[in-house]
Amino acid sequence: MTAKTVQTLFIDGQWVPASNGGSRTIYCPADGSEVGIVSEATAEDTERAILAARRSFESGVWARRPAVERGDFLLQVADKLKARKDEFARAEALDTGKRLVEAEGDMDDIISAFRHFGKIADHYPGRLVDAGDPAVISRVVYEPVGVVGMITPWNFPLLQASWKIAPALAAGNSFVLKPAELTPHTALLMVEVLDDLGLPAGVANVVLGDGGVVGAPLSSHKEVDLVSFTGGLVTGRTIARSAAETVKDVALELGGKNPNIIFADADFEAAVDNALNAGFLDSGLVCSAGTRLIVQDSIAEKFVDELVRRAENIVMGGPFDEQAQTGPLISAEHRDKVTDYVNRGIEAGARLRVGGNWGGEEHRDGYFYSPTVLDQCTATNPAVIEEGFGPVITVETFSTEEEAIQIANDTDYGLAGAVWSSDSGVTNRVSRKLRHGTIWVNDYHPYLPQAEWGGFKQSGIGRELGVTGLEEYTVAKHIYENTEPAVSGWFPQKDAN
Ligand code: NAD
Repeated sequence: MTAKTVQTLFIDGQWVPASNGGSRTIYCPADGSEVGIVSEATAEDTERAILAARRSFESGVWARRPAVERGDFLLQVADKLKARKDEFARAEALDTGKRLVEAEGDMDDIISAFRHFGKIADHYPGRLVDAGDPAVISRVVYEPVGVVGMITPWNFPLLQASWKIAPALAAGNSFVLKPAELTPHTALLMVEVLDDLGLPAGVANVVLGDGGVVGAPLSSHKEVDLVSFTGGLVTGRTIARSAAETVKDVALELGGKNPNIIFADADFEAAVDNALNAGFLDSGLVCSAGTRLIVQDSIAEKFVDELVRRAENIVMGGPFDEQAQTGPLISAEHRDKVTDYVNRGIEAGARLRVGGNWGGEEHRDGYFYSPTVLDQCTATNPAVIEEGFGPVITVETFSTEEEAIQIANDTDYGLAGAVWSSDSGVTNRVSRKLRHGTIWVNDYHPYLPQAEWGGFKQSGIGRELGVTGLEEYTVAKHIYENTEPAVSGWFPQKDAN
């Protein structure tokens, strides 16, 4: 019997096993099949990766490269990813269980993110400030933050990492990435690309493993200047608390409880079709999923009946099942959480209209949860308050525009939301009053790498993508230069004797 290959960590330009020899087997959540074995790092491995990133940063080997060259490097990364798209998409689909076609879509978005940051890398050199004195040159320059710790989730493993890697490299930082422990493979493929293209040793490092052990040092270590996290609210709070100790910069992309508001005059067919897409795309495992449906009461019955009818027809299946329209959850533990979330919603008075089960016998080996609609929900129902993070849509109704806005903003989250109406006065007023970071009008889900992404309230701190997504990885420095040095006269000196 030949020993199985263990994919290792990437630290200081080297592929290395965990210092204690530890490893973890990764299984596909669609059928429980083994996907691969990867090294499971220790806290000491993370420490080594942080110190390697620090050395590479201080050496200036990447940070002091001209920004235009760094941008060009990112464009080369985009080309490489395009050439290896099938291989990457397959790896992502196996780790997450998501449909191959969705993983391919993620790859297109990843390539676009690298192109976007590649193109703008040299656009923000700084600015001159009028000091009010012609002898003074006062300039603000933007420098890389330093060492970035990146911690990412399992739902869009490489996409979420790329929203951090591309701007961090564009700005000249070094980084240590810790992907979610259940979905490590595409992060390894990504550093392979960066390494092949000649990124200097130590600039990009990947450590794999448990959040509390391997991820924690990234938020506590003095040599990390910025911790950029995407994941759940509870973990985000832990990271922010830990980062406070060394007063490091913190960027948080957390969960959402995203309202999808349907006015009676909306295009019915488009709205109902997109309500399905909003809530059930990728099994609802999308931070911006429109899982909180808010429908005007005059059309609510018809709208929800149609939504339920269509939800019933959604076919679940594994990554390579061509009939499948949606995939599994990530693990048995996660499925238990979604099951408990739905049960508590029903106990609190919601009515189960469709779903609420693990699928038929054919899904026995995977962690599936059927598309679920809960109606007759009230604002105090836990299913309305909590992020379920599964294919579950709750339904509330409203009569007036003010009521719709009030319901949609009645959440501690504030990531995204949508409003559907054929009256542009209504859509304009409502979209300006919603306290959420992305608003779709008569659409759901599209986002652009050129436009900022992030949350209001407890959905996060900071923005990814757009221009701000690059600025997050820079720090402003003011340089005040007096070209005609002169005595200040503040402390006049008596003449010596
Ligand atoms: P999670 O918070 O459980 O884990 C995210 C990452 O944090 C993982 O890599 C995990 O290992 C790590 N981690 C866990 N404990 C840690 C600790 N103490 N210190 C450091 N790292 C730690 O989230 P998840 O279940 O993987 O992802 C789902 C969540 O992510 C959802 O809430 C979803 O809304 C959110 N999300 C948000 C966005 C966004 O753009 N706002 C995008 C995708 C996912």
